[in-house]
Amino acid sequence: MSIEIRDIFIQNSLSKKKEKLVPIEKGYIGMYVCGPTVYSDVHLGNVRTFVSFDVMYRTLLYIGYKVRYVRNITDVGHLLDDGEDRVLKRAKLEELEPMEIVQKYSNSFHAMMDTFNTHKPSIEPRATQHIIEQIEMVQKIMDNGYAYEKNGSVYFDTIKFHKEKKSYGNLSGRVIEELMTETRDNLKNQSEKKHPSDFAIWMKAAPEHIMKWDSPWSVGFPGWHLECSVMSTKYLGDTFDIHGGGNDLKFPHHENEVAQNVGACNCDPANYWLHTNMLLMNGRKMSKSDGNTISPEELFSGDSPHVSKGYTAMAVKFFMLQSHYSSTLDLTDDGLLASEKGYKKLMTSLSTLESLETNGTSSELDESINALLEEFLAHMSDDFNTPRAIATLFEIVTKINSLKEGHLDINKISKETLDKLKKEYPLFISDILGLSNDMEGGDSNILSGIMDLIIELRQDARTDKNWSVSDKIRDGLAKHNITIKDGKEGTTWNVS
Ligand code: AMP
Ligand code: ZN
Repeated sequence: MSIEIRDIFIQNSLSKKKEKLVPIEKGYIGMYVCGPTVYSDVHLGNVRTFVSFDVMYRTLLYIGYKVRYVRNITDVGHLLDDGEDRVLKRAKLEELEPMEIVQKYSNSFHAMMDTFNTHKPSIEPRATQHIIEQIEMVQKIMDNGYAYEKNGSVYFDTIKFHKEKKSYGNLSGRVIEELMTETRDNLKNQSEKKHPSDFAIWMKAAPEHIMKWDSPWSVGFPGWHLECSVMSTKYLGDTFDIHGGGNDLKFPHHENEVAQNVGACNCDPANYWLHTNMLLMNGRKMSKSDGNTISPEELFSGDSPHVSKGYTAMAVKFFMLQSHYSSTLDLTDDGLLASEKGYKKLMTSLSTLESLETNGTSSELDESINALLEEFLAHMSDDFNTPRAIATLFEIVTKINSLKEGHLDINKISKETLDKLKKEYPLFISDILGLSNDMEGGDSNILSGIMDLIIELRQDARTDKNWSVSDKIRDGLAKHNITIKDGKEGTTWNVS
């Protein structure tokens, strides 16, 4: 039995057009997303990108596709501007083995993805576990004449590729003639390259370099771009449906991936390329290097000059989903405050909906509710338009509240429609947008903030020897089952 899956339209960075998604195999989607380089904790910009792809994954699953979602872990070869491997530099700094760094920051990445309630990918391959396959791909590219060896390193010949195969720069819109004069990648051995636009696919390691492997050319390590060419096609086939990543990866990372795959097997890796846009803070790209960053933990606790208070992960996620993945998003305290309010309204509507009962019969109201449910899916199918879809959810919230308050007659809605609303509306929120109710967590944050304040006021009263106020606070709290205890470490409290 074949089920009909609704059409999805996506903005393809390759064609620069919005296109209908036509999978290679009916009913199945292969999706590869560039994962994190695990040398430090993820920042909110990374979170935005992975949350965006999670919502795409969830939407595809919801409408009935079987999806194989591959998201890698980069644990070797992603070099800094000074040519040093990010993981190795961090290992030296923290006095840990490189693999301890990889494990430590993979764990913290996974924990953060759980906090933001994202699905785990179907496969999460690591670059260091695919060295053999990477060496094989380098060999294939060389056999096809699109790479050359120099002093133990291997470089991709962009000019030969551009002339014979396919225009280098197609995906990113870069022009090879300009790249010939301006490109400098973070290699110490620039002079080994035939053309400035060439890039290393295998690098000979210096004797003191730790993460290195034997190869036909040298003891060395693979170039960063190679791992994604190898791991995407290993698990999804030579050509697969969707390749994604942040738009800062379009060039050189994704452009070079395409060149490597075409150079190795003469096939384009992905039919659709999806790029998410950057998270900004106060108008500038969020990035660790220039200090314009806030960690998720700082945002949760409110311990940052950039925010007035703490926000729960779901409030932050809701804030992110209120803009389209392809637009930049500016993180501001005002924006977060507004989103938190909206998110709470949405969560409250879930329990209000649960409490509604009807014996009514069908009317125009049924039609408008059904139309809104359809509209939500239509927006999600139109390039995963979460801001529009959320606007539709708020129209449903208004209906739910009006039904509860009697502004709309509950008996003008049939049981069938109310049941459908009760079934689908919560699923849109939980299964497609991936929002869970962490309002309780939010309330307990508020409580602990209030308790800090009360304890401080009581301390002030005690310092002033104002025992009546201090006792009034203690007794008043006891009435709400909150016990406070004065100890050596200060005053603590608990709810019984
Ligand atoms: P990295 O660990 O630096 O390779 O980045 C992991 C993912 O996060 C990539 O897809 C990047 O494009 C994406 N990314 C990095 N910075 C930002 C940002 N400020 N906003 C959104 N996505 C970002
Ligand atoms: Zn990648």
